[in-house]
Amino acid sequence: MISKSLDKAIELLKNEEVIGMPTETVYGLAGNAYSERAIQSIFQLKKRPYTNPLIVHIGNIKQLKELSDEIPQKAEMLAAKFWPGPLTILLKKSTKVGALVTAGQETVAIRMPNHPLALDLLNQLEFPLVAPSANPYQSISPTSAKHVDRYFGNQAVFTLDGGESTNGLESTIVGFEEEEVIVYRLGAIPLEELERIVGRVRLNEVNQNGIVSPGMAPKHYAPKTPLIFTDSLSKRIQQLDTNNVAIICFDKLPKVNNFEDSIIYSFQGHLGNAAKRLYGLLHELDDRNLDCILIEKFPNHGLGRTINDRLKRAAVTN
Ligand code: AMP
Ligand code: MG
Repeated sequence: MISKSLDKAIELLKNEEVIGMPTETVYGLAGNAYSERAIQSIFQLKKRPYTNPLIVHIGNIKQLKELSDEIPQKAEMLAAKFWPGPLTILLKKSTKVGALVTAGQETVAIRMPNHPLALDLLNQLEFPLVAPSANPYQSISPTSAKHVDRYFGNQAVFTLDGGESTNGLESTIVGFEEEEVIVYRLGAIPLEELERIVGRVRLNEVNQNGIVSPGMAPKHYAPKTPLIFTDSLSKRIQQLDTNNVAIICFDKLPKVNNFEDSIIYSFQGHLGNAAKRLYGLLHELDDRNLDCILIEKFPNHGLGRTINDRLKRAAVTN
């Protein structure tokens, strides 16, 4: 069920229920971060393995101190610059944070979302919210209340409607080792922007405990329709044996003889727009019974790098 009632959302969360929550990255499946019952429901609804930890969402800096007693200086600098916003910070957890939230790890992932309704909600509660993306494990993340409702509406999940997510890609996840900033997941804040604040960062898909950040797993974010991700679109089109396809390009349309009946879509060279629209477009195309979705590699910088990362994982078919 989709609704704009903040009061109802608050009531449900206080009763340890789970709701769909808007954020600027993607919609989350939110529950009380201190309630084992709510957390269990999230794992069950998503069919998420317990080895995949959850991000804790806060509405103000006071809540941060509850979750961690050790905040490195670079974490403070990044939070000051990017919060509220699409940056998730890994910190040593306090005793208030349960083992289910962190998958038994000593670090907890924390973020302050930049969405007016989400902030309003968080600031009217006396507890933070865990909110992984509101999609079944490994499928495309939701960027609208409608997407969440399609995934979980039949399981009586209430979704708070906060419009379309303005960023459209998951948060960037960073952690700290000694003085170094490590990026565990590429996301809505490009590496270049982080480096402007804290200097050189290191990209690493494996954390201190040797665990791959689950958002970096080879298969993730995938539509049901086979997705072909290519850096030579024109050549790959010639090899297709069907024209019941969608062709997605970053900028200029390729020559497409015999593909007049296909869906052809261009982001017109605009990375921010591509980030915002990408998941919504994949949701729409997934409903059309296409034989495949062919999508061109993006320029590999800024948000283009994050988009390429997601598409690479979405294109794995087994
Ligand atoms: P989602 O909210 O579904 O986009 O997924 C959250 C992602 O945050 C997971 O895939 C993990 O990679 C990452 N994450 C959350 N908590 C931790 C943690 N304590 N240590 C490392 N990664 C984490
Ligand atoms: Mg996710």
